[in-house]
Amino acid sequence: MKVDPKKPQKSLAVYYLIAMIVLMLLNALVFPTLMAPHVQEVGYSDFLNMIDQKTVEEVAMESDKIIFTAKNENGEKAIYKTGLWPDDNLVDRLHTSGAKFTAAIPTQDSPLLSFLTGWVFPLLFFILIGQLLGRMMAKRMGGNAMQFGKSNAKIYVESQTGKTFADVAGQDEAKEALTEIVDFLHNPAKYKEIGAALPKGALLVGPPGTGKTLLAKAVAGEAKVPFFSISGSEFVEMFVGMGAAKVRDLFKQAAEKAPCIVFIDEIDTIGKKRDGVNGMGGNDEREQTLNQLLTEMDGFDGAKGVVILAATNRPESLDKALLRPGRFDRRIPVELPDLQGRVAILKVHAKDVKMDDDVDFETIGRATSGASGAELANIINEAALRAVRMGRASVTQTDLEESVETVIAGYQRKGAVISEKEKKIIAYHEIGHALVAAKLKDAAPVHKITIIPRTSGALGYTMQIEEEEHVLMSREDMLNRLAILTGGRAAEEVVFNSITSGASNDIEKATSIARAMITRYGMSKQFGMVALETVNNPYLSADTSLACSQDTSARVDAEVQQTIEAAHNKAVAILTENRALLDKLSAYLLEKETITGAEFMEIMQQEDA
Ligand code: ADP
Ligand code: MG
Ligand code: ZN
Repeated sequence: MKVDPKKPQKSLAVYYLIAMIVLMLLNALVFPTLMAPHVQEVGYSDFLNMIDQKTVEEVAMESDKIIFTAKNENGEKAIYKTGLWPDDNLVDRLHTSGAKFTAAIPTQDSPLLSFLTGWVFPLLFFILIGQLLGRMMAKRMGGNAMQFGKSNAKIYVESQTGKTFADVAGQDEAKEALTEIVDFLHNPAKYKEIGAALPKGALLVGPPGTGKTLLAKAVAGEAKVPFFSISGSEFVEMFVGMGAAKVRDLFKQAAEKAPCIVFIDEIDTIGKKRDGVNGMGGNDEREQTLNQLLTEMDGFDGAKGVVILAATNRPESLDKALLRPGRFDRRIPVELPDLQGRVAILKVHAKDVKMDDDVDFETIGRATSGASGAELANIINEAALRAVRMGRASVTQTDLEESVETVIAGYQRKGAVISEKEKKIIAYHEIGHALVAAKLKDAAPVHKITIIPRTSGALGYTMQIEEEEHVLMSREDMLNRLAILTGGRAAEEVVFNSITSGASNDIEKATSIARAMITRYGMSKQFGMVALETVNNPYLSADTSLACSQDTSARVDAEVQQTIEAAHNKAVAILTENRALLDKLSAYLLEKETITGAEFMEIMQQEDA
């Protein structure tokens, strides 16, 4: 339930305004005529006549009029009023006719009735409208907006999440850390006997899509306990104070249902640092919610069997108070999967999909270095969709490879019109990358080259696959990468003696690598091991900030430029030297549009022989 906090409040005010106006109109026009007794106005002469006829019963003199009761033609008592006249005989006349003088004749009903009509009915009406509106709004927003001070955390209880550790592939360390929690929830008495208190909270930390939410659900599934799940953003409510109320309510319910798990996803939305970054007046509501969360975490007894799990991909932005002992003091890293992990994740998701027998997950795992679990799950699904589109009964290796590119490089752009001339340039560009890669020592082998454009904007694509997983990159590896990245543009220069815009992505990547070499990896002779740039968030790439003087920054720029230029010169040299091979390979790619690493190597070897 994510609602723009301003909009509903405004329309709520409008609704109330309308209700008020309607109410006032009713009060002024409808109720009095409906409820008050009818007073008939008569002329003074008629009044005198009625006195003479002795039908007048009671008379009350007011400051501006005379109110009297009399029998009408049908012999019923009615109330009349008439104006005042300077009439000295009136008292005598009335006296002789036998009328009664009274202090006041109520032209309105009994005080009780007027109280009812004036106050109680309108109020009831008001409440009714309010409730109707509340219900209407609640329906519109899918929650109960008018329930002040009471949250709807209840609806987040899932007794059975249906997930177990078997659904989470890889992440063995995270699973191990969580197994203890599962054991505790199974058997709190065992821990109580020894007097061991388990951490109240564990924080799952890792980049998006690595399975943090999945792991939390698996813990609940393994422990077979109720699972309260709420996302940090759901605490931020349209009414100030609702977030804190929700937290209070959530923990109250959790205590009733213990042993159980409370899972707060994306906790960074409420748990952000409370330093002055937000400036004056910051986000009070968020702060209140966070304070309430801290209070609740401190307040409850850990031995009761309520375990709090939280997940975030911005651990560095969390308020330190959250990480203090007795709160989220256990931190469980959930990292991007390695090769083994990727293969395992692919297999888990392929379990429910009909796969060809000869499908090789290993190759796919190698081609997807850096992909998250969510992306891998998506790759399997895209492959299955492609198989259906192709009218096949099972998923083939080609489907999977195609799907890797779909997920990683965007959908294949069908029917995009590219002229022959442009296609030729693109073919040379891609072969430029591949040939430089092939001629460099220790560069990863080329797996596939294609000039089929993608919707992501890439016009071609050269896929290299490392033979084994690397956790370290040497300076040579990085210089190789730079030469390969500049190889595309270099081929355009060598062959066409002109350059195109097609290298923009390569240039961006090359720049960031060259920059990182100098500012973060200490690979520059000029600066040595000095951190000139710091990474703000290890899980969100490219989120860095400069930590050096302006003068140094200018020198860094100059060195970045030199580094890339050297790489570019190397690429040009390689391509000029192997011009015949470049032409032959490009012509082949132009004809085939997609060639495999094996085909590529075959042509290379023919030429060498
Ligand atoms: P996070 O919360 O870390 O952003 P999720 O738990 O929401 O990521 O993961 C999204 C989806 O990706 C999961 O529902 C699952 O299908 C898939 N996934 C991610 N990691 C794994 C894993 N380790 N094993 C199996 N599936 C995974
Ligand atoms: Mg998540
Ligand atoms: Zn390129």
